[in-house]
Amino acid sequence: MKKIIFLWTICILSMTSTSVFSHETLSMKQETLSMKEVATGIFVHQGKHLDVDDGYQGDICNIGFIIGQKSVAVIDTGGSASMGYALLSEIKKRTSLPVKYVINTHVHLDHIYGNIAFKEEGAKFIGHENLTKAMKLREEFYKGLNLKYLNIPYEKSIQIPPNLLVKVTQPLEIDLGDRLLKITAYPTAHTDTDITIEDYKTSTLWTGDLLFAERTPVVDGDIHGFINAIDSMSQVKFNLLIPGHGTPTLKPNIAWNNIRRYLVTLRDDIRAAIDEGLDLQMAIDNIAKEESSNWELFDIQNGRNINMIYPKMEWEE
Ligand SMILES: [Zn+2]
Repeated sequence: MKKIIFLWTICILSMTSTSVFSHETLSMKQETLSMKEVATGIFVHQGKHLDVDDGYQGDICNIGFIIGQKSVAVIDTGGSASMGYALLSEIKKRTSLPVKYVINTHVHLDHIYGNIAFKEEGAKFIGHENLTKAMKLREEFYKGLNLKYLNIPYEKSIQIPPNLLVKVTQPLEIDLGDRLLKITAYPTAHTDTDITIEDYKTSTLWTGDLLFAERTPVVDGDIHGFINAIDSMSQVKFNLLIPGHGTPTLKPNIAWNNIRRYLVTLRDDIRAAIDEGLDLQMAIDNIAKEESSNWELFDIQNGRNINMIYPKMEWEE
């Protein structure tokens, strides 16, 4: 079981890109992050898809910011303080407006450990109502991973929990100055801390890991809740989706269909395997195989998803 939990937890570590510098190093030579303006005033740095065997380096997911007339909102901060400082530096190249909000789309370590860079900026930290507790629960484990993969000592793995919480039943609106963002919290799906950010101005939805593009989706919460969240998000028409991993897309329907098709196949195949009494290894070898050519890192991540979901579904009616 321990092995299963470990495998599942490193599932989000299956990609890496540029090298990570300590903050000390960065203050001497500020790392440059590639940023793309995907819609007016919305900038994204896209993490790369690499396997965990190449080593987790803290730069694997999509992070970025939205600029309004009066202030800036950061959305996810990367997997280390140095990523956070690099992101802050990219913001300062583009605007002198203050960073008023830092929004964490969920608890996974690749999205939250850059928060510290924005503390001195006086930003408000926004997260799901479960985020503080979820950060605490994972803190020791994440410190271990940060040490192992990023060589960050325990005392420098600093979490900054949210101080403005979003309830599942009550979306929050924030104003960046002539730019309203709607933040919506979800019941357990990818994790138990998922939120999305809608920019009304450009009809953009920043989904966090409620959407994966190209890379095999990760289920670290509840498969049924994940499918429900996709059903609810896909009912609203958006011009642009910014996933947690993978390329932002102007074709929302295709992106929703892809992830939904995989998750439904996974769920239905696991249900059938349980009904047939297939053991876990047989299940891993066979479930959702027809999806394998559609996603990067499929075999390893699909196996982790099955490890996660199969034992839970065994208890369902
Ligand atoms: Zn995640």
